[in-house]
Amino acid sequence: MVHALIPAAGSGVRFGEAVKKQFLPLCGLPVIVHTLSVFEGSCAVDDLICVAPQEDLPLFEKMILTAGFTKIRMVLSGGTTRQNSVGIGVAFLEKEGDPEDVVLVHDGVRPFVTPLLIEAVVRKAKESGAAVAAMPVTDSVKRLSCDNVILEGISRDSLWAMQTPQAFRLEILIRAFQKAAFDRFSGTDEASLVERLGVPVHCVEGLAENIKITTPSDLKLAEWILRERRRLS
Ligand code: C5P
Repeated sequence: MVHALIPAAGSGVRFGEAVKKQFLPLCGLPVIVHTLSVFEGSCAVDDLICVAPQEDLPLFEKMILTAGFTKIRMVLSGGTTRQNSVGIGVAFLEKEGDPEDVVLVHDGVRPFVTPLLIEAVVRKAKESGAAVAAMPVTDSVKRLSCDNVILEGISRDSLWAMQTPQAFRLEILIRAFQKAAFDRFSGTDEASLVERLGVPVHCVEGLAENIKITTPSDLKLAEWILRERRRLS
């Protein structure tokens, strides 16, 4: 089976709005509903495990009912960091899933993932055990001193920026979270936990528009992307 695990339990403190960013309206629907719709419609995904803020569980359930989603298997209450929230989902799947299942972790605030990208990442993870969406870096990259003066340039030839979805065989993800807990390691994504096992993590080229909504200007860009997509379809 392929499970989509969607962390959406952030408090949105960086966003500076009263409403958490996963619940902000994007062309009339909450950001998280746009994201969940793509997984609901993907034939590569069997079920969805969502992680939501504890205080918003009733709101989350109501949104799922209104949207008419049928693949959502469980909504779990999240943790204090993204890694904790994903860990809660992994612990649920450790009890309820099969070690050979594939788990596709995707940020709830990346609504522009596509069925094609999901399929490509799942295919590579089935083949290899670990695959993530990522983009080659196109900007010049420099290392800076603590007072923001350039120390040196870094060749960008082999640099890629990580996105989600990130997909792993469940058995690998369980070991990665166990090791991170044992070592008290915290990373910004699942790949950084899996790398520490020595398991090769394969990159599949992602999409420039697969943005993570982090700031108010991201939401404006997201509205534009959505309108353009609708105009072109
Ligand atoms: O904070 P960041 O932008 O990295 O969040 C990425 C995703 O992780 C978001 O969908 C957010 O809701 C989720 N998250 C979570 N639990 C947290 C913090 C973030 O599920 N404690």
